[in-house]
Amino acid sequence: MEKGKTNIMSNTPPSEKGLIRIGIDGPAGAGKTTLARRLSNRLGVRYVDTGAMYRALTLVALEAGIDPSNEDEVYSIAEKIEIDLEPPKGDRDEQAVFVDGRDVTAGIRSPSVNKWVSVVAKHPRVRGLMVEAQQSMSGESVIMEGRDICTRVMPYAELKIFLTADFDERARRRRRELLERGYSPSVQEVEAEMAARDTIDSGRETDPLRPAEDSVILDSTGMTPDEVTRAVLRLCEDWSDCSIGS
Ligand code: C5P
Repeated sequence: MEKGKTNIMSNTPPSEKGLIRIGIDGPAGAGKTTLARRLSNRLGVRYVDTGAMYRALTLVALEAGIDPSNEDEVYSIAEKIEIDLEPPKGDRDEQAVFVDGRDVTAGIRSPSVNKWVSVVAKHPRVRGLMVEAQQSMSGESVIMEGRDICTRVMPYAELKIFLTADFDERARRRRRELLERGYSPSVQEVEAEMAARDTIDSGRETDPLRPAEDSVILDSTGMTPDEVTRAVLRLCEDWSDCSIGS
């Protein structure tokens, strides 16, 4: 079957054949990016980490001295900037992120961005712009992860996953990731940041974090990344389109 078939609109009905669109939602530290990356390698389909877009906007707003809770000001920046996501290549195994051509891949993971990103992502008009940009990437096969992918961005995805894990495990994973990136947060700091983001992301009015009705809920507590990936690939086994690229 032809890989990465294009030429369809973003509101493709679920009956559209030949595409692999996998949506992965879940709270911080659940392992969404790791899963998306592994599935991407396995299935030969691009992955998109949508959180990076909200993070890039947050970085630019903070640099401009804008109050992240001021929707009008954040929106006026969001309208002006161009955010580009570049798939992994060569030695780089994560998605690169550019704002108006500037590489912000490292900067969007800073503690100040962690602190403010959920506030920026709460604004309905800002979300509108992001959702539109994300939907424009769903005209071809894609593995997209975030918070509202299966409920809002790609309700027509062929496979919908809600990935979670218990709070302590998510905090441990998140802290490990931050340490690997050269930051040194305490356990308490990581727990506080994650709890604050969970509360805002799940409690906001526009497109809150929640599983879609037809999402498969996968609790990855105690599972290795390999085990999580295998569990999702098993879900794909019954689904013939998943043979594409494998
Ligand atoms: O996935 P990541 O932790 O990088 O996402 C950062 C933040 O971006 C989330 O805590 C959430 O506030 C926001 N986000 C969102 N919708 C998405 C992806 C991320 O609101 N689809």
